[in-house]
Amino acid sequence: MHPRYRKQAFFAGLGTAGQERLERARAVVIGCGALGSVIAETLVRAGVGFVRIVDRDFVDLSNLQRQVLYDEQDVADRLPKVIAAERKLTRINQLVTIEPHVADVSAANVRELVRDCELILDGTDNFEIRYLLNDVALELGIPWINGGCIGSHGQVMPIFPGRTPCLRCLMPEIPEPGSTETCDTAGVLGPAVNVIASLQATEALKILSGQPQLVVPALTVVDIWEGTWRRMNLNQATLRQHCPACTGGERLWLSGERGGQSVVLCGRNSVQVTPDGGLRGSLKELSARLRASGEVRETPFLVIFRPAETELELTLFADGRAIVSGTDDPAQARSVYAQYIGS
Ligand SMILES: [Zn+2]
Repeated sequence: MHPRYRKQAFFAGLGTAGQERLERARAVVIGCGALGSVIAETLVRAGVGFVRIVDRDFVDLSNLQRQVLYDEQDVADRLPKVIAAERKLTRINQLVTIEPHVADVSAANVRELVRDCELILDGTDNFEIRYLLNDVALELGIPWINGGCIGSHGQVMPIFPGRTPCLRCLMPEIPEPGSTETCDTAGVLGPAVNVIASLQATEALKILSGQPQLVVPALTVVDIWEGTWRRMNLNQATLRQHCPACTGGERLWLSGERGGQSVVLCGRNSVQVTPDGGLRGSLKELSARLRASGEVRETPFLVIFRPAETELELTLFADGRAIVSGTDDPAQARSVYAQYIGS
């Protein structure tokens, strides 16, 4: 055990053996926004040996209110979140291997992103990806810790495939759009995120220190503004009996039957466009071509393009994706993408 973790190993729940186990552990954090920032930082400070971080977005000024890994310089540099996160996390603990992926998690890449990890942490902000994570976790038998936060409240649910209820045991279908609060309608309070992410990270420390039996199968719902804390026990075998996924073996999101592109970025007035093929040519070639049609800025990670005479801005990634800012209309975003980048 490295001496820097002495205080943590003094904690009886972990001990030296638990700490040494953490240092050999491998975890993947999907989504590196508000929840993901806190989860990744906590795991890295605690000395989890390998932490993969995956996110599709860049750092935006409106993120700084709650996404604790990022600062104004990251916004000015238009850094992809995982690149900014990797820089901070490496300065926090250089003993940890941090592996950043600038990517949109989909049925096509999710297996590759999680298969060599022993735990998946949910730092996402949308149901489509959570149902995909649920499918891949069940398929590969990897535990995952679901979490979500809106307004001043949020919930945490650890899921052990084949043993405890999964996401679809509780919610067989994705809630209808408009039937639940979103960060567009209810906003989100920074400290609420920190509480939920800390609960997720705590369960992660139990599992990654080799003590999964300490995790209570429960749905925990917390509202920090109201000061309420409820825990629903999920230890009844009946909960799993009729589940299409854990009992029925259905993998609608992993097979690609459901899901596809989740395009509108919550609370950002932005839409993500993902082309069928990747980018033709390099970002450098693209930026040279776009200069005739508007204002272009190039960074080592992406190209920012403002078409002349529009209010829109396109942020283009090396995998061909664009985040179109200034609209929440997917059709308008796709059309401007087709017009300037190609279809
Ligand atoms: Zn289930």
